[in-house]
Amino acid sequence: MRYASVALDIPSRSLSGTFTYAVPTELAAEAAVGATVLVTFSRRAAVGYVLAVSDTPPDGVDASRVRAVEQVLAPPAFDEAAARVATWMAREYVCPLSEAVRLFLAPGQKVRVTRADESAPWELVCERAGAVDVRWTALTPAANDYAPPRTASRQRAVIEALRQGPQRVSELSATIPGAASAVTALERRGVVAVESRRFLRGGEGTTLSSAAAPRPERLTSGQAAALAAIDEARTAGRGDVVLVDGVTGSGKTEVYLAAIERSLAEGRGALVLVPEISLTAQTVGRFRSRFGDDVAVLHSRLSAGERFDQWDLVRAGRARVVVGARSALFAPLPDPGLIIIDEEHEGSYKQDKSPRYHARDVAARMAAERGCALVLGSATPSLESLERCRSGSWRGARWTRVEMPERPAGAALPRVTVVDMAEQFRGGGRSIFSAPLAEALRGVVERREKAVLMLNRRGFANFLMCRECGCVPECPHCSTALTYHERTHALACHTCGRTWPVRAFPDPSTRCPNCGSRYLAAFGVGTQRVEDELAMLLPEGVEIIRMDADTTRAKGAHQRLLERFDAAECAVLVGTQMIAKGLDFPEVTLVGVVNADTMLKLPDFRAAERTYDLLEQVAGRAGRGGRPGEVIVQTYWATHPAMRAVSSHDRAIFLDAERAERAEALYPPFSRLANVVVWGRDARSVRAACDELASTVRAAAGVAPGWEVLGPADCVKARVKDQTRRHLMVKAPVDADLGALLGSCVGSLGRRPGINIAVDIDAYDLM
Ligand code: ADP
Ligand code: ZN
Ligand code: ZN
Repeated sequence: MRYASVALDIPSRSLSGTFTYAVPTELAAEAAVGATVLVTFSRRAAVGYVLAVSDTPPDGVDASRVRAVEQVLAPPAFDEAAARVATWMAREYVCPLSEAVRLFLAPGQKVRVTRADESAPWELVCERAGAVDVRWTALTPAANDYAPPRTASRQRAVIEALRQGPQRVSELSATIPGAASAVTALERRGVVAVESRRFLRGGEGTTLSSAAAPRPERLTSGQAAALAAIDEARTAGRGDVVLVDGVTGSGKTEVYLAAIERSLAEGRGALVLVPEISLTAQTVGRFRSRFGDDVAVLHSRLSAGERFDQWDLVRAGRARVVVGARSALFAPLPDPGLIIIDEEHEGSYKQDKSPRYHARDVAARMAAERGCALVLGSATPSLESLERCRSGSWRGARWTRVEMPERPAGAALPRVTVVDMAEQFRGGGRSIFSAPLAEALRGVVERREKAVLMLNRRGFANFLMCRECGCVPECPHCSTALTYHERTHALACHTCGRTWPVRAFPDPSTRCPNCGSRYLAAFGVGTQRVEDELAMLLPEGVEIIRMDADTTRAKGAHQRLLERFDAAECAVLVGTQMIAKGLDFPEVTLVGVVNADTMLKLPDFRAAERTYDLLEQVAGRAGRGGRPGEVIVQTYWATHPAMRAVSSHDRAIFLDAERAERAEALYPPFSRLANVVVWGRDARSVRAACDELASTVRAAAGVAPGWEVLGPADCVKARVKDQTRRHLMVKAPVDADLGALLGSCVGSLGRRPGINIAVDIDAYDLM
């Protein structure tokens, strides 16, 4: 008899351990690790996942009392190493084991089972999978002579993507809305060829050439060094990490491609994660052109059927290079030699719902578990990764940083000007646009070029700010900006929970606590207002396109606005930070940041880092074509290291200051930080539960050095959908087992009706 350790998936219960079931001989072959099975639990049918199989029952389990696995519902989706990673995740991120395991299942598989009648076998409910589009398309030689009409921007986008090599039509459609009809139109003109087959390769009869993309003649010295470090990490086989620290356009992608080639040559595969937003047709095309149909693309915009198909190609060993967003990390690739995370500093690698994992940290665990290398790439690496490289190791793996400071083509960096808005104000400027920005905008219009204006509105909170000196009242205990609550006329600190009636600070309608100015006001500008003022500033005949949450709500609206901007002769694109990424228009010669510092003042220790990252990214958008680019950053805080670093193209100015500040205040990367949020409809029981949890955690952490419990306090978003939200933050030493401690504290609180608790380990969202 064999025995299976099964993680039960019962929606109403969060179970943390596994349960032992016997495997009947006739199911022995199917009920392997990774399989979904049907078992009985508390006299009910339940779905579970097999995490381990052994010949003897685990210690302490009475073999005669063990129930049997009744049915196998789905074939193995993951292996032992994946099961170990899932088990680790459940503990590390304080989530039910089944929730961690679900990440590894086939796309579309549901927990629910159904059956036709009492005697029929149970079946898993699966997302309805549409037909899979098996069409591949590639440019024909006629493409060289074809110029699409100016308005046919989709055709242009498709051709641009196919220049890299053949692609699946479904993948093009996932990133270029309307790509399928553009392909049909292009096929009619003989510009592209289309062929239906699941695999592109596979021998005779293929009309599509899977021509390799041009590869550089020789690598730069930075690239060669990065590649050597990656080779070493891969051969060491213990999850060593290489951080490729290279400016935009320094050739990081080229390094990934070369490293993957070497991994494939050894018979191993590669997982490549890119932020959802950079999962464009061009990115996919670049990997496809090098590795053909050895590439699987996991994309949330593919249909359920498409996603399953690609996932299945990986499981069947037909595709050994997986390119996708965060969740591609869990693809069933049996033997990756490499895990690559591009733009590793991106906040989107942290999942904001349970399991609240960080892909970088899970990847590090996975790399150690599978004996492969982890490659992180960024132009603005996170302080966490930089610190781990500085100390040389983290969680038993070596961390190495390789710098790639130059662009192979030697393209120039744009000129960055920081404008002090307080000075503008004192000089009489009352407009949203400073004199230098207004002048630059007029220049763009005169030269019939294009400009992008960015308005920073992430996690927007209400502050009182002095327009003359830029001062924002801060909590004297936490040095976080106090948020202003109009209803109660109070200032609140969302770190420690203290509040002050506004009278205790100088009256906002009268004077600034710093300079005594009377111009103290709630802070915030909307895109609409920028658009209006812009219309007044610029002559007619300039197209103004606004891109924000409002104008992009409709499906495909985002793409349509970009197309309009692309097709315009002379235009200004006004938008929130959503425009900072992926925007790549050669005609853009001016990028203006209307308010660079709203984020700096958020009660979040990463506020400065995010501001810096965003500004660097925005700056990289200007002057990508032949013409020189200019960046103008408006701020009330021109002396802030982030501003100085961006304007002088010297990251060290920012990093040194930021590092010192975090070390001093014991914030990550010099500690671990968890955010525990308690919410519910009844404010009093929320408050009581949060208080009790705080004292439990205080008692558990004791007086151990490096532990600190902050709060409880109201969340910045104190009320969401009629629910009251309170939170506490827990700081712990870098090597602390934070998840285990908080998991047991939350467990001891027990389940309470109407009370929800989210434990966010290594939190990114502190609001
Ligand atoms: P990143 O990923 O760092 O932004 P890419 O890998 O996309 O950089 O490279 C930027 C550009 O430089 C691409 O057009 C690429 O083809 C080119 N490139 C990369 N490496 C080299 C090289 N060694 N020699 C010449 N051109 C290169
Ligand atoms: Zn002031
Ligand atoms: Zn405080």
